[in-house]
Amino acid sequence: MTRVFDEDLNARFATRTIHAGQRPDPTTGAIMPPIYQTSTYVQDALGVHKGYEYARGKNPTREALERNVAALEGGRHGFAFSSGMGCLDSIMKLFSAGDHIVCGENVYGGTFRLFDKVLRRMGMTFTFVDTRDPQRIEDAITTATKAVIIETPTNPMMWITDLAAVGEIAKRRGILCIVDNTFATPAFQRPLEFGAHIVYHSSTKYLNGHSDIVGGIAVLSDDGLAERLQFILNAAGAVPGPMDAWLTLRGTKTLALRMKAHDANGRRVAAWLANRWGVERVIFPGLPTHPQHELAKQQMSGFGGMISVEMGSREKAATVLGRTHVYALAESLGGVESLISHPASMTHASVPPERRAEMGITDGLIRLSTGVEDADDLIADLEQAFKGL
Ligand SMILES: *Cc1c(COP(=O)(O)O)cnc(C)c1O
Repeated sequence: MTRVFDEDLNARFATRTIHAGQRPDPTTGAIMPPIYQTSTYVQDALGVHKGYEYARGKNPTREALERNVAALEGGRHGFAFSSGMGCLDSIMKLFSAGDHIVCGENVYGGTFRLFDKVLRRMGMTFTFVDTRDPQRIEDAITTATKAVIIETPTNPMMWITDLAAVGEIAKRRGILCIVDNTFATPAFQRPLEFGAHIVYHSSTKYLNGHSDIVGGIAVLSDDGLAERLQFILNAAGAVPGPMDAWLTLRGTKTLALRMKAHDANGRRVAAWLANRWGVERVIFPGLPTHPQHELAKQQMSGFGGMISVEMGSREKAATVLGRTHVYALAESLGGVESLISHPASMTHASVPPERRAEMGITDGLIRLSTGVEDADDLIADLEQAFKGL
């Protein structure tokens, strides 16, 4: 169980990104935590060791990352995992057969798949609701409900859920509030401050930011809950290797810088798209025409680079996807390089077609993860891709 250094919580956000969780290496003064590429630790005598016994349970490089991200989210404990899904799977092991979970209906496709195809089979039950209306969460809660799980903004429809309202419902009804903060990152939104009990990430995306690792991380403040999650982490063992933890830590150091750049580019590109293609077809929480723009502004301090566009048909979507050069056609998001994708056949292919249709994930929908290249080049790329449409 990795606890943040208390003094790290006093620094401002950009300072935390660079220093929180790390101290110069005591033996050499190395400013970056070493990559402790080891599976075990030699003990001085039977039962006498330095707090490290076996690397599934604890690794110093991983601990530096866990303290760093915990400090960014304003929580007391961090837990790094081998992927976002591995992280969520371990969080779900806090629950048991017979437990009921209320979940946002427009969550990441893999989240829906884990719940619907794996955990349901093991005796847990789920109700998926549109969490833009917190009353629907309230209405779905039964005596068996143990948690509400939300994503805000959602992938790819950019629905916003009122974090304060959900935090209040969870507290009043005595259930856990769990938030996937992958899209906004703690640079723009810190769910623990709104009453969430656990915040988690696919650190594959913005936290690492360089498209070179797969990882997940959870942050929480309650000591008892942290002890239970540490037990699961060690018992189930979905942990990252030290090299991936180190790369992610290198990534989080520039999180404040990168998110500012993603946000500036996101606003420029969304404005260009709204002007060129019609504001009603461009989905970006930073546009004043987004139906939940006011709520987004209340709980987020920036909007990032994720933009969805309704092209109107699969053909038009395929045309744009086939023509862009700077925006590369690929799954994933949140890296420094711009990506473009087709949610219906890529990230959300595991969601049944009827369900996709209900949420607006049509065959004409494309999703842009706007990177940190020069915005003029991104717009020029889209300009030639939209020509004649
Ligand atoms: C990618 C993603 C996940 C899954 O994380 P992996 O690291 O790919 O396992 C979960 N939630 C969101 C919002 C994501 O974008």
